[in-house]
Amino acid sequence: MPFHQKRLILHDIMKRLAILGSTGSIGTQALDVVAANPSLFQVEVLTAHSNATLLIEQAKRFKPNAVVVTDERKYKEVKDALALLPIKVFTGAKALVDIVQWEGIDTVLGAVLGFAGLHSILAAIDAGKRVAIANKETLVVAGELVMQRAKEKGVAIIPVDSEHSAIFQCLVGEDIQKVEKVILTASGGPFLGRKPNYLVNVKATHALQHPNWVMGAKITIDSSTLMNKGLEIIEAKWLFGLENEQVDVVIHPQSVIHSMVQFTDGSLKSQMGLPDMKLPIQYALSFPNRIFNNYKRLDFKDFPKLTFEAPDYKTFRNLALAKESMQRGGNVPCVLNAANEVVVHAFLQNKVGFLEMSEMIEKTLEVVPFVAHPTIDDYMHTDKEARAQVTEFLKKSQLSIY
Ligand code: NDP
Ligand code: MG
Repeated sequence: MPFHQKRLILHDIMKRLAILGSTGSIGTQALDVVAANPSLFQVEVLTAHSNATLLIEQAKRFKPNAVVVTDERKYKEVKDALALLPIKVFTGAKALVDIVQWEGIDTVLGAVLGFAGLHSILAAIDAGKRVAIANKETLVVAGELVMQRAKEKGVAIIPVDSEHSAIFQCLVGEDIQKVEKVILTASGGPFLGRKPNYLVNVKATHALQHPNWVMGAKITIDSSTLMNKGLEIIEAKWLFGLENEQVDVVIHPQSVIHSMVQFTDGSLKSQMGLPDMKLPIQYALSFPNRIFNNYKRLDFKDFPKLTFEAPDYKTFRNLALAKESMQRGGNVPCVLNAANEVVVHAFLQNKVGFLEMSEMIEKTLEVVPFVAHPTIDDYMHTDKEARAQVTEFLKKSQLSIY
């Protein structure tokens, strides 16, 4: 058989997917990609936390072998609704860990939100599954452990985050040793150019309006505070095995260049496109193949000006805090992430101010004990401790208002 035909067949083997977090922004877009390519992808597992209605609807449409609803209060609703279909229903956080080990799955898309995604990603790696990872918090908290395990198991970790997908695409065919640095682009979010006197009055409804991307609530708030970019520099460090100094950030408000790689000869490569997460999701699922789609194409005439500027680390403290956390290493990024998850949740409920979020994170970073070489248990403990500490700070600040 001619070589090119052989390649085609190898690449076109149907992938059997577990989509963790199928009811979220990434999860639903991943299902759009699957629906558009029924000969390439088969959904074996879908999971949600508490959105039973959407999970049931997805299960009826995509007919997986199993679904998991981690919120146990929703189990009966899902079980009853799918009773006449040959779909197994599981519940609880542990079910997420068990299900990724199923033989019938070869690829796991990690699109659960936050620290809650960590154990299932590790379990998928241990079971030798290929992992497409959107769940950046897992890499922020335990990137070293995750990448080490993946290396030991010979498992591919393919980024879904658009910046990291861009870097990954730029690195195809390149020697990682010849990378001088990577440059993550950031849109700057809805408050680009704003100063503290403005930001002090910002509310969640305001921060949820991202200029370029439509995403889940937590990451949209993270984009407005630049914590998202902070998490992404740590994510990039671990994904690509870089030194801290090799990860840079530039503000690029048009979100056309999704990130860049600079090589040791000074040459720069970038990956560009319209801001649409379906593209990096599709690439991660189909890699190393590229598959056709009919998404709108980038037309440079629509973007006569691509602009770049340095981030304002002083106003957007979260970016500086993330950078410092990366430099300190150990369990510090885990503290940063846990504190951030709690304050963002509080901000979404109008229980903390926009600028106060950074203050709370900073205070938490000061009090949680440092662990230089954390084990998985240390991460669990650090996460718990950081959440407890930041919750105390939040309570005190609310009391001081009244
Ligand atoms: P969403 O909030 O839209 O969706 C999160 C998904 O995870 C939902 O399916 C949700 O279930 C599930 N989930 C939430 N909490 C838990 C839990 N404790 N246990 C199990 N499942 C849970 O988030 P996004 O899709 O926006 O983001 C998902 C991940 O992808 C994040 O890590 C984010 O940083 C990353 N990412 C997202 C991008 C985007 O464009 N949205 C871009 C790049 C990265 P339910 O619906 O039932 O609550
Ligand atoms: Mg991103």
